[in-house]
Amino acid sequence: MWFRSELSLEAGVSYLSGSPLRFQSRENATVFIGHSTVLVHLDGQNFLTDPLYLKRLYILKRRRPPGVPFQDLPPLSFILISHGHLDHMDLNTLNLFPRDLPVVLPEGLQRYLQGLGFRDIRPLSWRERTRIGSFGILALPAKHFPGRSLCETQSIPQSYLIQGTRTVFFAGDSGLTPDFREIGANFSIDLAFLPIGSYRPAPFRTGHMSPEDALQAMEMLGAKRMVPIHWGAFRLSLEAIEEPPGKFRHLLTERRINPTAVLLEPGEKVLI
Ligand SMILES: [Zn+2]
Ligand SMILES: [Zn+2]
Repeated sequence: MWFRSELSLEAGVSYLSGSPLRFQSRENATVFIGHSTVLVHLDGQNFLTDPLYLKRLYILKRRRPPGVPFQDLPPLSFILISHGHLDHMDLNTLNLFPRDLPVVLPEGLQRYLQGLGFRDIRPLSWRERTRIGSFGILALPAKHFPGRSLCETQSIPQSYLIQGTRTVFFAGDSGLTPDFREIGANFSIDLAFLPIGSYRPAPFRTGHMSPEDALQAMEMLGAKRMVPIHWGAFRLSLEAIEEPPGKFRHLLTERRINPTAVLLEPGEKVLI
């Protein structure tokens, strides 16, 4: 249990509060917090994806602090969890949220949230929906490795489509998959969050995307805007920590696709 208390403390205390994050009225925007954690402010409400505020993920030191201190997060309407891996479903971070906050996650992982005392847990499988306030949330496929740990090997990673007055797609962890084309054919996506890191060694790429793959996924999805995730916080694979953002920036210049695709540093905001 040593890691739990130490990490909880670090998660709660280490990133000192500035001032609470505020949005203009009627502004729809997203702020990149770090790794796969993004804050979306849509239709006057806020939600968070794969919250991860750890300073250390086991032996891995965090290279960029979260872009918004935990204490400065605005009130949330729900949390989305894409899959059970430790860099996406972090119980130390989840332990910091109010227990009546709805949490949407893959079927099979609910017991972890029940263990923390969360009361509104919405397990979904691919192509199942739930509704929270004015938002429709649809679980969709992701091409990634199942399970959380040796104790839980069955849960299936998923992506999400969040439908309000704008449509947002959150891929979680995924390799390039023909499912993106099908999703793009069925929905008009205003903003897609797509992962760009953890693609080396080569077998990792079956469940992760390189910057090139992510840009191809953006095209397949027909997304009007894309923000890359899963880079720059923890070195989880063989490529250098700065390689994914460096390559991504280079591709943006080379292909002149800025500002359709926007690399946000932690704490930076873009309108949806
Ligand atoms: Zn994963
Ligand atoms: Zn991951």
